[in-house]
Amino acid sequence: MAVERTLSIIKPDAVEKKKAGAILALLEDAGFSILACKRMHLTRQQAEGFYAVHKARPFFGELVEFMMRSPVFVAVLEREDAVAQYRKVMGATDPAKADDGTIRKLYGGSVGENAVHGSDSLDNAKIEIAYFFPGNEVAPSAG
Ligand code: ADP
Ligand code: MG
Repeated sequence: MAVERTLSIIKPDAVEKKKAGAILALLEDAGFSILACKRMHLTRQQAEGFYAVHKARPFFGELVEFMMRSPVFVAVLEREDAVAQYRKVMGATDPAKADDGTIRKLYGGSVGENAVHGSDSLDNAKIEIAYFFPGNEVAPSAG
């Protein structure tokens, strides 16, 4: 299986609960290397641009307001099969339906405020990583 990169966002609810460190530790324990990580307070433009694919969904406005509420951590994760493996560790969108031990089960509060974001495909991971880490901000490899 190929080594891949994916984008993680630790969302405002989890950062407010001071769980960013615990989530990053869980990710390292799950075999991910954290190639880049920064704390940012998203502007409306950044939040709307990032979630543009969901613009037509009824929860779009709520989602954008939530993502702008307080700082997030954005991170680039690397490991074998990273996109699928991170989705697995993250858990279902609705924390109530997420498997035990997943990040959303442990730290998510609701289907909207669900602690973390993860890219849903390798193509989107590339787009999302470039969105938050343009140019050569990400080190070439984990090693
Ligand atoms: P995922 O984050 O699991 O890939 P989606 O891409 O479907 O899920 O949705 C993006 C984000 O929009 C979710 O993580 C969640 O924060 C929010 N969201 C999804 N569905 C709802 C909903 N029914 N009500 C409110 N917010 C939602
Ligand atoms: Mg998604």
